[in-house]
Amino acid sequence: MEKTKFGAIKIDGKKVANDIKQEIAERVEVLRSENKKLPHLAIIMVGDDGASQTYVDNKVRASKSVGFHYTLLRFAETISEEKLLKHIDQINQDDDVDGLIVQLPLPEHINVVRVTDMIMPEKDVDGFTNQNFGSIVSKEQGVLPATPYGVMELLRRYEIDTTGKHCVMVGNSRIVGAPLSMMLSTEGKATVTVCHIHTKGLASFTSSADILLVAVGKPGLITADMVKEDAVVIDIGTTKIDDASRARGFRIVGDVVFDEVAAKASYITPVPGGVGPMTIASLLYNTLQAAEARH
Ligand code: NAP
Repeated sequence: MEKTKFGAIKIDGKKVANDIKQEIAERVEVLRSENKKLPHLAIIMVGDDGASQTYVDNKVRASKSVGFHYTLLRFAETISEEKLLKHIDQINQDDDVDGLIVQLPLPEHINVVRVTDMIMPEKDVDGFTNQNFGSIVSKEQGVLPATPYGVMELLRRYEIDTTGKHCVMVGNSRIVGAPLSMMLSTEGKATVTVCHIHTKGLASFTSSADILLVAVGKPGLITADMVKEDAVVIDIGTTKIDDASRARGFRIVGDVVFDEVAAKASYITPVPGGVGPMTIASLLYNTLQAAEARH
């Protein structure tokens, strides 16, 4: 395992995600050699937001790289909610499609919850529907949300045991913080504290964490004085900031001040190259599982 120059072991999400993609590609190859149906992922994108386009391009590239079929449906920013729901219904009925994702954010006139909840739960490979969200608590079979699932898989592959540990989750969103905190307490058997924007004295909670997980989107939020010696630190935040020294003119940063926290932590995820690549790997894994369950 690679240590950062600051002391902590780097949790290499890029490498783990590549390992998972390789495992998926091998399973797809077996399906192909047996003349079985290959997994098929459909992606809906509304409008032409630059960041969303990049995420969609990455998902298409990843689908191709593991041998999936894919369909990309693009709609104008002005599409009505009713029309979008109809398209989702058609894909739900299309027996060839195993997984469907609707790239977020959606334009303001469209209700995100209504749209994501229209996706058939078995095809909801982002794990956003209320039914899949509920299955985390009810412990019934469901599709786990991609980013939280990616974090749990990173912890598993680095053999970081969460049982009985104090996990502090900073961020309580519907797609990351809330499901991840539930997964840590159910499947992970951890004692979980959830912090959010109204938490008073954030540092008093973070500094007692054996495992600190941060999904906020505020660069510099977590400094070394807020972290316990030898804690495991998982930085999920991603914020694009201008950087004239980079060819692209920007770079991506997390919520944790990496250098100083890496000097104190036992394990740490970098940004980029930590949780980010795991989200796409989990999406592919969910699609493969959905295909295998349906056929
Ligand atoms: P979100 O919906 O904006 O949620 C942010 C959460 O942080 C909310 O729960 C909010 O509290 C909380 N918060 C805001 N300011 C805070 C503060 N000062 N102290 C403590 N908590 C605070 O964002 P999200 O979708 O969960 O995403 C969070 C970050 O993760 C973003 O940077 C996003 O880009 C990144 N992300 C990365 C991946 C990946 O694959 N790496 C995937 C998804 C998201 P309230 O609930 O009280 O408002």
